[in-house]
Amino acid sequence: MIDLSNVSKWYGKFKVLDQCTARIEKGEVVVVCGPSGSGKSTLIKCVNGLESFQQGSIVVDDVSVGVAGKNLPTLRARVGMVFQNFELFPHLSITENLSIAQIKVLGRGKEEAVDCGLKYLDRVGLRTQADKYPGQLSGGQQQRVAIARALAMNPVCMLFDEPTSALDPEMVNEVLDVMVELAQDGMTMICVTHEMGFARKVANRVIFMDGGTIIEDCGKDAFFGDISARPKRTQTFLSKIL
Ligand code: ADP
Ligand code: MG
Repeated sequence: MIDLSNVSKWYGKFKVLDQCTARIEKGEVVVVCGPSGSGKSTLIKCVNGLESFQQGSIVVDDVSVGVAGKNLPTLRARVGMVFQNFELFPHLSITENLSIAQIKVLGRGKEEAVDCGLKYLDRVGLRTQADKYPGQLSGGQQQRVAIARALAMNPVCMLFDEPTSALDPEMVNEVLDVMVELAQDGMTMICVTHEMGFARKVANRVIFMDGGTIIEDCGKDAFFGDISARPKRTQTFLSKIL
């Protein structure tokens, strides 16, 4: 479903991604973790074309995004993304937030877009909030709207960039619960998160990054298994978050 092959990226002279290779099968849930600044956000932004890269290749659902960045509009429409800070449009109602990209990007009619948006709003448990504005919702509710908005585009996979790290602790679980359900329904997902409870519950694999490099890419059981057998950098990181 998602194939990254030797992806390298520089900001000027600074190499932010160094030969990253990973393959994510349909229906797999992959958790990406690693220290701040290790390139996690940059890597997943390359997957949906929000960032360009200079070497390597990325293929998503048979659509290739080489370094030339061709096929970007197709790619962006197919890959759902959820950010740390929700990124809802504050001046639009929840219904409008849910429908605008469907109308502008997918060319759906307004009625169809609203119906589809409300269906996913219902799925994240917020059907009654449709006429409100983002500022009237809690952070956890806004993030669930952001997930519904991405799902309404019928993406082939979903990318999450630390979706719970801007939330008050009591709201983290309502967002993780939605993500767990999505994973159990078979959605292909790459989740940058340090919520290791989530990783243990639904991840198939865990990727650990440091300094722009994928240090480890292994099955969940191996990742959380014998910590003393792991690379030093992974051990140091895990000792801080577990
Ligand atoms: P992470 O998500 O793992 O915290 P990022 O992918 O955001 O890491 O950033 C990786 C590195 O790239 C960091 O050192 C960061 O400072 C640098 N970086 C990110 N965006 C830019 C940019 N637009 N220009 C220059 N450097 C950047
Ligand atoms: Mg980041």
